[in-house]
Amino acid sequence: MNIVLLGAPGSGKGTLASRLEERLHIPHIATGDIFRFNLKNNTELGKLAKSYIDKGELVPDDVTCNMVRDRFGKQDAKEGFILDGFPRTIPQATELDKMLKEMGRKIDYVFLVQADDERIVKRMGGRRVCKNCGEVYHVETLKPKVDGICDKCGSELVQRDDDNENVVKDRLKVYHEQTAPLIDYYKNQNLVHEVDGFATVEEVTNSALNIINR
Ligand code: AMP
Repeated sequence: MNIVLLGAPGSGKGTLASRLEERLHIPHIATGDIFRFNLKNNTELGKLAKSYIDKGELVPDDVTCNMVRDRFGKQDAKEGFILDGFPRTIPQATELDKMLKEMGRKIDYVFLVQADDERIVKRMGGRRVCKNCGEVYHVETLKPKVDGICDKCGSELVQRDDDNENVVKDRLKVYHEQTAPLIDYYKNQNLVHEVDGFATVEEVTNSALNIINR
């Protein structure tokens, strides 16, 4: 099963993807996490991506698509995937269609995680992520079992540099200009299902699973 999660930064895509990964046993592929992994390891790709990420801009399409193509080549992606943060532009979406066609596969569901900008900006201030595995938490609404420590891997939780209010506002602008057109792109293919990004994690996960199981 191949799933795409669409939605603004901070809408809750990462949290939903992580829960769906546990339930469906297909990998959660987050392009932002792959860029951050490369950044941490100081690779050429990481150095290139940093200048864009710091400003809240998008990494060029060709670089991003090549990275996703590589990721699809790994064994765990053969049975399906949950794409989080990709595609983010129309050229990325058409390239994704091309990659899937080559593999004899197609997108089964696009979940649009709905959330309004004002509440996103508020929520992003309290967001914390695991330094190691990228799992997402919130200081008030999604606390880890032990303060500051990831439930999944035991590593430290940190605030992302690009989660500061000014960069968040830039990222939202980029979302509306470059990524929101994908909603119609996928609606035209009858693939879009809307879920509420401000429902509880259980509710949003169950609504996605109900759509898949019906
Ligand atoms: P995210 O973790 O999805 O919020 O992504 C963090 C940053 O990584 C974004 O603000 C972009 O700079 C970059 N990024 C992630 N995914 C993509 C993508 N599909 N295309 C271009 N840039 C991306």
